[in-house]
Amino acid sequence: MTDSRGSDQGFSTRAIHVGQEPDPRTGAVIVPIYQTSTFAQPAVGQHLGYEYARTGNPTRTALQECLASLEGTEAAVCFASGLAAEDAVIRLLTPGDHIVCANDVYGGTWRQLDQVHRRFGIESTPVDMTDLDAVAAAFRPTTRYLWAETPSNPLLKILDLAALAQLAHERGAWLVADNTFATPYLQQPTALGADIIIHSTTKYLGGHSDVVGGAVCTDAATASDLAFLQNAVGAVPGPFDNFLTLRGIKTLGVRMDRHVVNAMRIAEVLEADPRVEAVHYPGLPSDPGHDLAKRQMTGAGGMVSFRPTGGAETAARVCQGTELFFLAESLGGVESLIEVPGIMTHASVAGTPLEVPDDLVRLSVGIEDVDDLLADLDRALAG
Ligand SMILES: *Cc1c(COP(=O)(O)O)cnc(C)c1O
Repeated sequence: MTDSRGSDQGFSTRAIHVGQEPDPRTGAVIVPIYQTSTFAQPAVGQHLGYEYARTGNPTRTALQECLASLEGTEAAVCFASGLAAEDAVIRLLTPGDHIVCANDVYGGTWRQLDQVHRRFGIESTPVDMTDLDAVAAAFRPTTRYLWAETPSNPLLKILDLAALAQLAHERGAWLVADNTFATPYLQQPTALGADIIIHSTTKYLGGHSDVVGGAVCTDAATASDLAFLQNAVGAVPGPFDNFLTLRGIKTLGVRMDRHVVNAMRIAEVLEADPRVEAVHYPGLPSDPGHDLAKRQMTGAGGMVSFRPTGGAETAARVCQGTELFFLAESLGGVESLIEVPGIMTHASVAGTPLEVPDDLVRLSVGIEDVDDLLADLDRALAG
């Protein structure tokens, strides 16, 4: 694998080293938390690379360089949250421009598109992106972005990134890929033609449920426009947040391996359980996205969703019946989480085209011992 800086090192080596040389002054092996708002300048009009910490901070630079390397892009620009990163990407457009987005994007993404950017003249059309004809039909002459998320949230549908990139490029638009669920360890959207990659680093990249952050990975020219917005609008992440995210990224590879193994086992057991009506996990051979996932991912990820027999009430009861799986929003941490998206993470999409089934349970499968997780789910399903 080759990164943007010509390195032929493997993924985990780059996760641990790129942008993270030992501190030249002290030899500290970990990039320091540069908890400073400003930087002393040697002379008027001269500086050592940093002037003011909204504009640039060395801890943030390290994180940005590392992320660009992992996604195989020329550059990365970090933000205070995933939604702040998305906001910056949409601010690259102008009123009158149009976005085609997947009809099951993250609820907060749809809320921002529909309730914020629409007011400023940028319209979005949700469409089932597993249907390429429907995607083509949703294009307008003003369409600038095709906004995809795969695996999708919370139904874990798999979208064909290469086909979507081609479709967008033929029509003069860009493919924006939210790679939060897959992570660059399991999926490389750049290699499939994506122009802009979005991350909520809050999730697997941070990996320990202790920090909120976002990033955009893209070419140098677009990154420069985003860095302008990062400074001009100001939704920057703090140095301690950048440090925590970098620290999480170092173990991304080993964590994802374990997330995938645990999620696969849980999906298989749930699929065989008569108390469960349907399981959504692209790692299952029976899943409609399985073949595509095998082609474009190196593992099916750590998210599993399912519908217990008995409807919405049973779903709520199961979520309140687990002990190891915490009932909580978010995902991607080492600890397992359970939730009902229709009432929790996706409440903002009720009554919209993005509505999710009210009996759906979503699991963020952690890296605990899987037998303990299975016993926990079994107890909760038994009621
Ligand atoms: C959480 C999430 C976001 C939003 O990120 P925040 O860091 O919570 O602002 C965007 N996309 C996906 C797929 C997410 O899971």
